[in-house]
Amino acid sequence: MRLLLFITLVLLSSTLEASTKILQIGLYHRTEPVEVIIQASEGSYAVFGNGQELTRVDDKTILRIANKNGLIEVKSLSKTFGNYAILEIKRNSWGSSMKFQRTDGVKKPREHNDDFIIKPKDGKLTVINEVYIEHYVAGVVESEAGSKEPKEYYKVQSVICRTYALNNRRRHEAEGFQLCDKVHCQVYHTRSKSNPDILRGTQETIGIVIVDSDINLVTAAFSSNCGGYTCNSEDVWSGYLDYLRAREDDNCIQEPHSYWRTTMSKDKWLGYLKSKHDYPVNDPIAQHAALNYCPERRDITFDPDQDGQDEIDFIRIRYDLKLQSAYFSIENVNDSVILEGHGYGHGVGLCQEGAMNMAKRGIPYDEILHYYYNNIHLVNLSVIDFFRSE
Ligand SMILES: [Zn+2]
Ligand SMILES: [Zn+2]
Repeated sequence: MRLLLFITLVLLSSTLEASTKILQIGLYHRTEPVEVIIQASEGSYAVFGNGQELTRVDDKTILRIANKNGLIEVKSLSKTFGNYAILEIKRNSWGSSMKFQRTDGVKKPREHNDDFIIKPKDGKLTVINEVYIEHYVAGVVESEAGSKEPKEYYKVQSVICRTYALNNRRRHEAEGFQLCDKVHCQVYHTRSKSNPDILRGTQETIGIVIVDSDINLVTAAFSSNCGGYTCNSEDVWSGYLDYLRAREDDNCIQEPHSYWRTTMSKDKWLGYLKSKHDYPVNDPIAQHAALNYCPERRDITFDPDQDGQDEIDFIRIRYDLKLQSAYFSIENVNDSVILEGHGYGHGVGLCQEGAMNMAKRGIPYDEILHYYYNNIHLVNLSVIDFFRSE
């Protein structure tokens, strides 16, 4: 068994090894600029056009980079360097970061660590950040979790983010990079700089990823607040995943996102059930049941009169009516119905607000991950690399 695990880890490492250190992230994905101004915010950089070194950039130098007739034009305040098919921007020292300012009215500059490649694309610029994975993880954690959480929570989110990044590193292969900077992959709008605990959380879990019982990287799903019960993967998406099992969670139910309430007219609610789902609203028993529904726990389908017919997926109702979650009760008051719900988001996997509360109570990050993900292992990629080199 030990040998099998060893061989599996070696195989896993051979496919991951090349891509565990540096990731290629497409910045400004689908909102590519025509022109950017760059300036180092930390350290200094060397700029190469078509492989030849053109100049250096530090915090006192700016360069203007634009798509001109399908090539990359590079200018400083005093000089035009030329037009190039590819621009490479390489840091001179560890910890360097570059500031990017668009010139099309988007005010907020962006800062990112490590190296960059800029290529022309359809009259605009493709900007690729070649970033050390732990710098990327810290940037995503800051974008996803904000700057006010305890360090132990940043460790939780770092492991999830790293696992996701490695598991999805072929998503944008056709576009010449690995992951984009939008919610489609993971939100990555900045290097981490607002709370040193984020970088500490990343460093203290360096290289750690989540694998399932077959030692495959997991889909580390999470949502904002599960409302007291998480969901099975197959109840929300199509596939069964052993590590995404429903469970009770009382860590999040005191949080504001755990509760929501919305009111609509009785006619609108019944009209919706009739027109979208052909629910028998004219049957008095069925109508009464659809107006007074109080689940004891999270149900997957809405079967108000519990006759095994006319079942409607709660997820459909959630998306049709744009509700905060698919977990709610229904009460009829005069001509209105009140929907009172629990949670915020799809409810599969880790519950962020529950995990934050566990971290605040001093529960270690690995216990938190094992609480929300069933039968998983936390594996350190550097240990795998060590085994491989033996
Ligand atoms: Zn993407
Ligand atoms: Zn929860």
